[in-house]
Amino acid sequence: MTIDKQHEHFLQAFTSIYEAKAQAISIAPGRVNLVGEFTDYNFGFVLPCALQYNTRILFKQRDDKLIRVSSMQYPGEIDEFDLGEKIVPGDLHWGNYIRAVAFVFTREGHSLSGFDMLIDSDVPQGSGLSSSAALEVAVGGIFNHTFELGLGSDKIALLGQAAENDFIDCQCGVMDQMISACGVEGHAMLLDCESLETKAVPIPDDLVIVIVNSNYPRKLVDSEYNQRRIDCEKAAEKMQVASLRAANMAMLQSAKAQMSENEFKRAHHVISENQRVLDTVGALAENNMQKLRNLMTASHQSLRDDFEVTVPATDGLVEICSQALGEKGAVRMTGGGFGGAIVCVCRKADIPLIENAVAEHYYSRFNLKADIYVCKAGNGLIVENLAAD
Ligand code: ADP
Ligand code: MG
Repeated sequence: MTIDKQHEHFLQAFTSIYEAKAQAISIAPGRVNLVGEFTDYNFGFVLPCALQYNTRILFKQRDDKLIRVSSMQYPGEIDEFDLGEKIVPGDLHWGNYIRAVAFVFTREGHSLSGFDMLIDSDVPQGSGLSSSAALEVAVGGIFNHTFELGLGSDKIALLGQAAENDFIDCQCGVMDQMISACGVEGHAMLLDCESLETKAVPIPDDLVIVIVNSNYPRKLVDSEYNQRRIDCEKAAEKMQVASLRAANMAMLQSAKAQMSENEFKRAHHVISENQRVLDTVGALAENNMQKLRNLMTASHQSLRDDFEVTVPATDGLVEICSQALGEKGAVRMTGGGFGGAIVCVCRKADIPLIENAVAEHYYSRFNLKADIYVCKAGNGLIVENLAAD
């Protein structure tokens, strides 16, 4: 069912690159976070959903130790490395994500063989929809499936995160890989970042997700992120809790005098955001747009005023979309901030309100062109053998 006519070109491309037919396909989606920003590393709650945009890898096992990989998004390039040797970063940046996953699986003691792989994806890269997690999870799925490792989706997610942390050197939390690996069609995922427990939360059938990428050029903000992390840790320490997950507003108020202004504000965001995630689960269960709208608006304001990770372009986009939708939709920034995307939840009939408002106001106010992605919550990782013929 996953392979059909539209994949014919993809299948042919595999055959023409590797002079053999693909044996199976691994598919993992990008994601958007509906609410719960900067709560992951404070061991709180997040509520992402998998997208219908996904990364697909056709593959064929080899009988040697060579991994060869190419991508429809990087035509003419091919990365090649030998599992018999130490796995180190190569010349192709994108190829390093495959090396990273092979590195982590090998480190875990799994014995891998070689593969030919061809990647194709409609997850936009570098737009905050986590094309990197989709790629890592899809590669992890290949190894798990072929060698019958019996890993749960959550373990594949953790290995994907380790690949990104330890090989790519990007200190991301586990949310992106968890939702890409474990997403359920039509559902968001409530993830407890302390216990790693997940719960599938149905998204009412009449709602769609509209992601608007600001295309605001993100500056180097690593030091900003690090400082916020430190502020959160210090705030927790001053409340004498292991992490902000264990804090509440009363504790925050009583420790206020000992905190710097920023420590207080960052903690205020995280504590209130955790509650908003839990309340959003309730609002979705009731299909209550007004509650959803209030919660997402409050989340955005908290990210703007307390966590201070928005920029005028994303504040402006939220304002434009929020005004256009009125009571009909909920809007906030999503992802790491300092640019990136905003997310709207609304009914299908109201999508043109967003499209028209963005076309009319965004470029004229910010001199930037936005990209709009419309979808519903898609499935997590799937790996399937292809028919022999
Ligand atoms: P994001 O995860 O937000 O999309 P990242 O910078 O974390 O952005 O990851 C994007 C990188 O992942 C790309 O620069 C590329 O190296 C790799 N990547 C993602 N999708 C593909 C693909 N389809 N083919 C090859 N590499 C990809
Ligand atoms: Mg990424």
